[in-house]
Amino acid sequence: MPKSAEVIVIGSGIGGLCCAGLTARAGREVLVLEAHSQPGGAAHGFERQGYCFESGPSLWSGLSRWPSSNPLAQILRALDQPLDVFTYNDWDVLCPEGHLRVGVGGDGFERVVETLRGPEALAEWQRFTEVLQPIASAADALPLLALPASVDGIGPLLRRSGRLVQHLPAIRYLSGAFGPLVDRHLQDPFLRHWVDLLCFLISGMPMADTNAAAMATLFGEWFDPQACLDFPQGGSAAVVNALVRGLNVNGGSLRLGARVHRVLLDGDRAIGVELSNGERLYADVVVSNADAWGTAGLLPERASMAWSQDRRSTPACHSFLHLHLGFDASGLEDLPIHTVWVGDWERGIDADRNAVVVSIPSVLDPSMAPEGHHVMHAYTPANEPWEEWDNLHRGTEAYQEQRGRRCQVFWDVLEQRIPDIRNRCSVVMEGTPLTHRHYLSTYRGSYGPRLSAAKGLFPGVMTPIKGLLQCGSSCFPGIGIPPVAASGAMASHAITGRRAQRELLRSLDL
Ligand SMILES: Cc1cc2nc3c(=O)[nH]c(=O)nc-3n(C[C@H](O)[C@H](O)[C@H](O)COP(=O)(O)OP(=O)(O)OC[C@H]3O[C@@H](n4cnc5c(N)ncnc54)[C@H](O)[C@@H]3O)c2cc1C
Repeated sequence: MPKSAEVIVIGSGIGGLCCAGLTARAGREVLVLEAHSQPGGAAHGFERQGYCFESGPSLWSGLSRWPSSNPLAQILRALDQPLDVFTYNDWDVLCPEGHLRVGVGGDGFERVVETLRGPEALAEWQRFTEVLQPIASAADALPLLALPASVDGIGPLLRRSGRLVQHLPAIRYLSGAFGPLVDRHLQDPFLRHWVDLLCFLISGMPMADTNAAAMATLFGEWFDPQACLDFPQGGSAAVVNALVRGLNVNGGSLRLGARVHRVLLDGDRAIGVELSNGERLYADVVVSNADAWGTAGLLPERASMAWSQDRRSTPACHSFLHLHLGFDASGLEDLPIHTVWVGDWERGIDADRNAVVVSIPSVLDPSMAPEGHHVMHAYTPANEPWEEWDNLHRGTEAYQEQRGRRCQVFWDVLEQRIPDIRNRCSVVMEGTPLTHRHYLSTYRGSYGPRLSAAKGLFPGVMTPIKGLLQCGSSCFPGIGIPPVAASGAMASHAITGRRAQRELLRSLDL
């Protein structure tokens, strides 16, 4: 069997591209196979009528400065692919308390708390941030790229590593959920709702289920006096292009429109893949960047039954509604790049159509829209139940009727700020969990596995099938750009070995 590459990566999400780039950098021949016509998975960009639309992530951080604790920034640096990044310092929140402009960083939020809730709530918040600081420092002392490929190795590493000794008292919090810490230290209802919102935006789950390390890292960045948020010039497509360039300059390649139909096994070893057109490609190692359900679906039923059953039955986060607009910007000078709307705290942060994120990247990067216009991506963040869509089919009248009805939430939110928004639009595209599943090949259009941090860590990159690894949002450390970049690196470490990992860390001064 002639080999097509030493390593085949199924999927060009950020996790798959990070794995592929680092593995190619370590001297392996890598081929990435992507089902869609665009690379990037949830982070892909697409163009219509001169507008550069975003499909997924809008909140980026840790890309504009070095050193950075963001694994994506570290990987881009290792691949020698610098990014041009805009920075900004505040975002808008429309919530039951009113219209807030919230500054990034400790001071910005403290001003909001004092105005809204008074000095007692402010003191409570300040005590909470003091509790979080050592936990944030502990998270910071352990770069995700330094972790071993196997999740089982993380415990011993935590105990062994000399640089972590001073952080030992705080380390015990890192692998658990954030909720208990909040319960112990915050009583003010607004502060609790606020933290719940941030947790939900990060993990797709409320604070009781969100990992404490992820939240400590977020707050750690906020405590920094130079705290800011970032937006890549050219949007998420620019990040994806940089990763693809990093792959190509290291000799790797990417094939678009190449859907993997199944992983080929020889006994209990993965030896390659078969594409949906019947073409077979062979490799020493196969890495799946498809989600948990998709990866299990690429294997024959008989293969590693318990493991694949477990992956198939993983509980899923909810999905998304999307609204993409291209609109006339005249007279709208004070728009923020991001607005988060929450309807009713009491319904719960994960209630359907109760939260909306509005992102207008052309506020910072005018090159993303035709002159005098803005491009917008609004989405309901992982709160759209699949069950609402299960029996519908794209293109049917029933589907279009339901899409219009459920996407009404976006127009209601937008009209609060831009009353004539409908008349300004030259492009309008509404999306649903079915759109999401169609373009991203995700199970039920889900954000990812709904695995509570209260019950344990996400599964690691190793699988019981020899020569088969996984990476992306179904793996440790979880969902979101920094975590999936880290899981891509872990899969790469598993292929290239400890020496290559040490060289990588040395080159980054980590
Ligand atoms: C609307 C939205 C907003 C978000 N906002 C943020 C944010 O603000 N900040 C943040 O950090 N994170 C955010 N996220 C989360 C983040 O974007 C994702 O967690 C991350 O991009 C997922 O990366 P991944 O590596 O798991 O791969 P995915 O993005 O899931 O990509 C997997 C790729 O594999 C391909 N594939 C699957 N099966 C096959 C097959 N059989 N053959 C070939 N190819 C296949 C798919 O086509 C896809 O391209 C958001 C996500 C969404 C959807």
